[in-house]
Amino acid sequence: MATNYSLIAKEIADIIGADKVFTEIHERMAYSRDWSVRPFNELSLPDIVVRPTSTEDVAVIVRIAYRHGVPVIPCGGLTGMVGGAVPTFGGIMIDTRGMNKILELDTDNLTVTVQAGITISKLNSELEKYGLWFPHDPESKQAATIGASIATRNDSTFGIKYGKIEQAVIGLVLVDGVGEIVRLGQRKTLISSSGYRLHWLLIGSEGTLGVITEVTLRIFPKFKERCVDMVAFKTFADAVKAVNRIVQAGLSIESVNIMCSSRFQYYTHAYRVKYGREAKIPPGTKAILCITFNGDDEVVGFSRNYALKICRELEGKVIEEEIVNAWWTSKHILKFEPGKQKWPDSQRAERFGAADASIPMGRLDEAYEKFREVALKNGLKILGMNVYVQAPYSLHTSVSFAVYVNDKDLDNIKRFYNYVKEMGLYALSIGGSSTSYQGDGEKYAGALCEIEHKDSLKLISSIKSIFDPKHIMNPGKKFGPSKWIKIGD
Ligand SMILES: Cc1cc2nc3c(=O)[nH]c(=O)nc-3n(C[C@H](O)[C@H](O)[C@H](O)COP(=O)(O)OP(=O)(O)OC[C@H]3O[C@@H](n4cnc5c(N)ncnc54)[C@H](O)[C@@H]3O)c2cc1C
Repeated sequence: MATNYSLIAKEIADIIGADKVFTEIHERMAYSRDWSVRPFNELSLPDIVVRPTSTEDVAVIVRIAYRHGVPVIPCGGLTGMVGGAVPTFGGIMIDTRGMNKILELDTDNLTVTVQAGITISKLNSELEKYGLWFPHDPESKQAATIGASIATRNDSTFGIKYGKIEQAVIGLVLVDGVGEIVRLGQRKTLISSSGYRLHWLLIGSEGTLGVITEVTLRIFPKFKERCVDMVAFKTFADAVKAVNRIVQAGLSIESVNIMCSSRFQYYTHAYRVKYGREAKIPPGTKAILCITFNGDDEVVGFSRNYALKICRELEGKVIEEEIVNAWWTSKHILKFEPGKQKWPDSQRAERFGAADASIPMGRLDEAYEKFREVALKNGLKILGMNVYVQAPYSLHTSVSFAVYVNDKDLDNIKRFYNYVKEMGLYALSIGGSSTSYQGDGEKYAGALCEIEHKDSLKLISSIKSIFDPKHIMNPGKKFGPSKWIKIGD
């Protein structure tokens, strides 16, 4: 029997209010895609969109969905790059962005409890009034919500000091796949050896275990000073050597990333616009180390000088300040234009896509060559490689291998996914991970996840069934066949 979505919409509206439930086609259209690479005219429409304002609203929606056995897809800002929030099989889309309040700010214990739909930027602009901040900083922070940052385990600029988001999540409230409200983790302290760390299971869960509705995070006093530098190296290995020595020296580093020269040209678009010329780097440069320091003035000054001394000893060339400022600024002013499936115009007019992988730090030069080889073999134009360092005070990487994609050309899209598959399998073959910040989403679905976790698949699927017995939570993501990637082709 066909599902009667009108009836389901009415059931939800009768309990949480008709003003939160949307069924008209023009209201559903905006939820048919995220920033993943897909044909420009492909639409996956949800049958109902609901914009709850509380945990209780979400529980009502999931309980009704559970009874009818229909899909539930949580979403935040829809900037995900793997189709994680795309309603692959229709169903009920839960837009969490109406749940955007700060519920408690505890300045004595340095914690904040928020509703999961608040964006990182909004949270930080509120915290700033108290001299505090939440140091999690993807470039998409203006649109990315806290719930989605947990659900994707996205990257932060400041990973080398503060780590990935799990380092910040003290506890959370989840509406599971039955509609039960469960509190996981602690409320005021990060440290516990009791029970299991169930809240960490939600990190990278991509909406497949339930809807995160509230989160308690640890926060920090805002630092006094920040200093940003870029240093050009002849190889990635030299840049890695420099970072390892800087870490070993015990300096106050806040962020580290290493990009190739093509990625550098992409990011210095703002410099080109301002000065009317290319941002120049020394000839023979392969890797550009971008590093920031934060803390009190004296500590920052000392850390910077000492770090640059190490870089010079390793034949690094320090890049001029105007270029550094242009890069840092462009990284922090991305504006998101609703409905536009491309990098914002302030940056670039062309669409891009990326393979994301974690690569062992000693293999970055080899990975760069592999990136070029696989992209060229698949006829893709290279945008560039960027290595984000995501573990506190150690060089564990999350690498973006970006290429341009024409989403009006189906063959180009297929070649892109072939490229993504090859890069993912390569990362696995050298002991890395097939995805490091985007997630498995709809792009990989189970294709690479099932290879990466072949020994624990039974456990993973049992865990999924405990949280979501009817498998209504975000179907088509993380598990099962991928539309784009087939293993064995
Ligand atoms: C221009 C641009 C720049 C970017 N920069 C970065 C970057 O620097 N670093 C980085 O890591 N990523 C980056 N991204 C990718 C993306 O922004 C992040 O992955 C971000 O976490 C997505 O947030 P969102 O709110 O838009 O999530 P959405 O796309 O709406 O959702 C993403 C996933 O989270 C799930 N989800 C959402 N909310 C919840 C919830 N409350 N409970 C359970 N599951 C939920 C969804 O079902 C989906 O699977 C960028 C993307 C773009 C387009």
